[in-house]
Amino acid sequence: MPELPEVEVVRRGVARWVVGRTVSTASFLHPRVTRRHVEGPADAIARTQGLVVADAVRRGKYLWMPLAGSDGVAVDAMVVHLGMSGQLLVEGSDAPAEKHLRAVWTFDDDREDLRFVDQRTFGGIAVVPLVGTPDGGLGGSGEFVDSSWSRFLPAPVAHIARDPLDPSFDDVLFAKRLRDKTTGLKRALLDQTLISGVGNIYADEALWRARLHYARPTRSITRAQAASLLAGLREVMTAALDAGGTSFDSLYVNVNGASGYFDRSLAVYGQVGRPCPRCGSLIRRDAFMNRSSFSCPGCQPVPRSAHW
Ligand SMILES: [Zn+2]
Repeated sequence: MPELPEVEVVRRGVARWVVGRTVSTASFLHPRVTRRHVEGPADAIARTQGLVVADAVRRGKYLWMPLAGSDGVAVDAMVVHLGMSGQLLVEGSDAPAEKHLRAVWTFDDDREDLRFVDQRTFGGIAVVPLVGTPDGGLGGSGEFVDSSWSRFLPAPVAHIARDPLDPSFDDVLFAKRLRDKTTGLKRALLDQTLISGVGNIYADEALWRARLHYARPTRSITRAQAASLLAGLREVMTAALDAGGTSFDSLYVNVNGASGYFDRSLAVYGQVGRPCPRCGSLIRRDAFMNRSSFSCPGCQPVPRSAHW
């Protein structure tokens, strides 16, 4: 499953190769590719053709392209769900069709096409209305910091909070909302309405950096601890982005490319039985929400009380 840095790599590829171009035709080659577009494929095509791809926007793991008319106003956005195996490719129209090619967009400049390839067909496309965000792009001190398309969200994404790499993410508000919750710390990090884009790997790595146990009651987290948790999240996500950065220049935008970061730089995730890089204690794995939590028993002490 692609996490935030992988989706950001794809977003940058789309921003570089597709934004500013006018869609000429859209074709869907498999019924499942538009199953999230409830009005059907013909409607998705009608609401795309002749419109300009105004931007490539990401929030958490969600990626979309606002589609603007000749007046520069975007009413709808095309949301791309990458699913487990979805890829966006930018290729010349004479390139042979991929085995699992699901959708093709051509542009009126006759340059490269955009293609959606998806082996397992969990991904797909939906064209949905854009709505204004509740926070209106206001920063922590109330100043208007976000004049971009990220102020508008596709309706199905409207409940998703900003992610920690978003310049308009409000650190102070995050700490307050975290402390107002009555749950465990890692559960809160995986709650997309509080903070988006944090998967299992990034949660475990950031908790280790902040020396916090995943079961800490959110009410007990100080503002300083919340700040160090955000710093840890930004550190691991930025490192993963840097590791994936080499593909930005390529015409071939591939969300499946395994990030080298995961092999080299993980302190706790998947490291059960190995020594903690900071204190040497052996990393442990606990069952957590049908998955695992990796932590260091030395650096991340179990809270005395797990009651919240
Ligand atoms: Zn340790």
